[in-house]
Amino acid sequence: MGFNNDRKFYNIINGEKRSAEKTHRVTDPRTEELLWEVPVATTQELDEAVAAATKAFQSWRWTSISERQAVLDKIVQVIEENAAELADIARKETGKSLLMGQIEIGNTTRQIKVIASQAPQDHVQHEDSEVKILATHQPLGVVAAICPWNFPVILSTIKIASALITGNCVIIKPSPFTPYAVLKLVELCQAVVPPGVFQGLNGGADLGAFMTTHEKIAKVSFTGTAATGKKIMAACAPTLKRLTLELAGNDAAIVCPDVDLAQAVEQTATGSFFNAGQMCVATKRVYVHEDIYDAFLCKFKAEVKEKYRIVDDGDVPSVFGPVSNKLQFDTVERMLADAKERGLEMESFEQSVPEKGYWIPATIVSDAPEDALVVKEEQFGPIIPILRWRDEKEVLARVNLDNAGLGAAVYSRDIAYAENIARKIEAGSVYINKFEIPNENAFFSGFKSSGLGGELGKQGLLSYCYTQSIHISKVSPY
Ligand code: NAD
Repeated sequence: MGFNNDRKFYNIINGEKRSAEKTHRVTDPRTEELLWEVPVATTQELDEAVAAATKAFQSWRWTSISERQAVLDKIVQVIEENAAELADIARKETGKSLLMGQIEIGNTTRQIKVIASQAPQDHVQHEDSEVKILATHQPLGVVAAICPWNFPVILSTIKIASALITGNCVIIKPSPFTPYAVLKLVELCQAVVPPGVFQGLNGGADLGAFMTTHEKIAKVSFTGTAATGKKIMAACAPTLKRLTLELAGNDAAIVCPDVDLAQAVEQTATGSFFNAGQMCVATKRVYVHEDIYDAFLCKFKAEVKEKYRIVDDGDVPSVFGPVSNKLQFDTVERMLADAKERGLEMESFEQSVPEKGYWIPATIVSDAPEDALVVKEEQFGPIIPILRWRDEKEVLARVNLDNAGLGAAVYSRDIAYAENIARKIEAGSVYINKFEIPNENAFFSGFKSSGLGGELGKQGLLSYCYTQSIHISKVSPY
């Protein structure tokens, strides 16, 4: 599985492709080959991009919603026309299979269409005999979008489409672990977007930090770890930037004793091992009622053994894959070492792992204590603890950790009971009888340490706007 060596990648500033003196190359997580060279943007280039965006904003902000929708339609077209190339690039940099690359690009276009259809419209907030009060939504200005590596394209296009449809200009900074597909997308879109409206710069924490302090950037939309989110919030304070933080979660699934075992096992296993657990709302702890614990565990092991095996050849369809980078690989290894040291019962079903690549076999840890790393921290990798619960109050206390505010799932035949439990879970999205996955029609946000504000759905788009109230007197002499 070689890679197309001829591809070139650029930072995109004011509609132009820019190379740079400083470049880096990402390691393919499947093969450990070095991928393409990619330019690293300087702070001077960030200034140039911000200046171009500020200028472009003066006209882009006054375009109508339908004009912006037309541009987003063209972006969708560009992605569809280049889907094969984008999927191939995304799978190489993340280590995903081709199938997963295709899923990501396919979901991206669907998501942009939904976001484009949900632009906030003016509405009457109040009217009586004396006054009519309108709500109108105005763009903020230049938005910096700072993104993670696990689903580089789709997580970027949430921010891109949300910023553009609300009349903002956007500068996207992908993760330095996965810069390629996003920069290629920005490059391809220059044919359909006015210069300065949509730009892309590659860089690491230092470039991100400059974005958060830049005086002419109005908003930062960030997706990543809670530790970085806290730094960003502090850095944004002096310039009072608008801020959205989509952070980590330690999502729990509660499995009630009345479930259809086969369905609950299938869904919790998908939640745990889809993309090898590298999903913000992946199932990260499974709490199974003690009455069915042994039967569940047995079936869960059989499911994982059958469906979540290492498939070395990325052309073979699989939703499981390697850990996407060495840094994350080491984090998951530390959790495994902690579990081993504690003598916890662990099971994986691989006889051997490929010599090359950041592979960790799907691993099930049973009856782990709450203070084991694999329970108390987000794994973001293919290792899942299966825990026992007895009564509702006790399980909710264990589920509602401070770092578990993003997602959760409840499995029960009794939907009213499951919904009641869902309301007691302190997380932004709770899924009943299905594994956790964002839906672009629904607001997506983290409670507590899992975020600040949110994205998607009509509510998410409001975080890209100032809402202005216009009070029109009906009793004035005019
Ligand atoms: P990260 O916090 O290490 O990096 C994210 C981005 O922030 C990168 O682009 C990085 O270069 C940049 N960055 C790092 N330090 C910065 C600083 N001081 N100032 C500005 N930018 C800085 O996160 P990651 O490892 O790339 O992503 C994985 C994490 O993201 C996981 O914890 C996962 O749960 C979370 N995540 C959350 C969601 C969500 O929607 N809530 C979605 C996907 C991933």
